[in-house]
Amino acid sequence: MNSVHTIDLPTKVIVGEGVLKQVGDICRGMGYRHKILVLSGPHTRTLVAETVLDSLREASFDTTDMTVEGAPAEHVMDEIKRISPSLVVGVGGGKVIDVAKYASYRTGVPFVSVPTAASHDGIASPMASLKSLGPISITARAPVVILADTEVISRSPYRLTASGCGDLIAKFTAVRDWKLAYRERGEYYGDYAANLALMSAEVIARNSKVIRENSVEGIRTVVEALISSGVAMCIAGSSRPCSGSEHLFAHALDLIAPDRSLHGERCGVGTILMAYLHRMNWRRIKKVLEEIGAPTTADELRVEPEHIVDAVVRARKLRPDRFTILEKRKITEEKALRIAKATGVIP
Ligand SMILES: [Zn+2]
Repeated sequence: MNSVHTIDLPTKVIVGEGVLKQVGDICRGMGYRHKILVLSGPHTRTLVAETVLDSLREASFDTTDMTVEGAPAEHVMDEIKRISPSLVVGVGGGKVIDVAKYASYRTGVPFVSVPTAASHDGIASPMASLKSLGPISITARAPVVILADTEVISRSPYRLTASGCGDLIAKFTAVRDWKLAYRERGEYYGDYAANLALMSAEVIARNSKVIRENSVEGIRTVVEALISSGVAMCIAGSSRPCSGSEHLFAHALDLIAPDRSLHGERCGVGTILMAYLHRMNWRRIKKVLEEIGAPTTADELRVEPEHIVDAVVRARKLRPDRFTILEKRKITEEKALRIAKATGVIP
């Protein structure tokens, strides 16, 4: 076990209504100068990215903007090398944030995360997930600033927020898997990071009804929990506290039946299945997801029952370095079918 442990954390986290307009002053106040590259998706390009660009220009920054959706990360890296910005600001949902985080990490430029939806914990984590890099996320670097405007996020479709809750509920089984790896494989385990991740799942479970109302208060709860879980990964130095067997299931399902449901939605269903395997209270997890309005069945994930069974079996082989309950229980197709039926994920 390595006794030296380095923790990289975001320097500033700003959450609240209308904070978007402060981005220029915040970047200036932190000592950044000259050019800033603003990356956004085609949908966020309009109002939200314009507000960010206006705020940066008012604070006398020289801005360049670029739409990243569909553009490979290499294009973004080329653009960063060409204009040498002091900061890269990513404005958008999951994909934009991931591309911006990865490209800025690879080029050594600090990254500012401006999420427009609370759909997964990548808004604050040091991990980047890109299709071109395969199903597993890679360790990049945490955003230097996270600016989460709850007014902007509350305008996103509720389905995205519910998906974010699925990604958070996943911490219940992720932490169990991490503890298991510690006990059985002597893997590094950090109690603080584990508890921080668990707390972000617990806060979602306790506030499911407020979240379902889709109020600014509910959005704030989800955003803060997503940020806490990102910080838990920063403290652990890996995705361990936030990503276990339930994430392996979600990644396997991405390979088997891509694009039919969201990452967090798949993780939520994975958590029900893996909680059953861990002999945890899977019924409570299912009930919380139902109360939130997140999927709990194959049907709601828009996949076939056999896709679920297949994903549970394949999950184990996806990442041999990550010891989880799937490895301990040596899941076969027969067992996977039994678990999926017992939890009502498939009929
Ligand atoms: Zn996730």
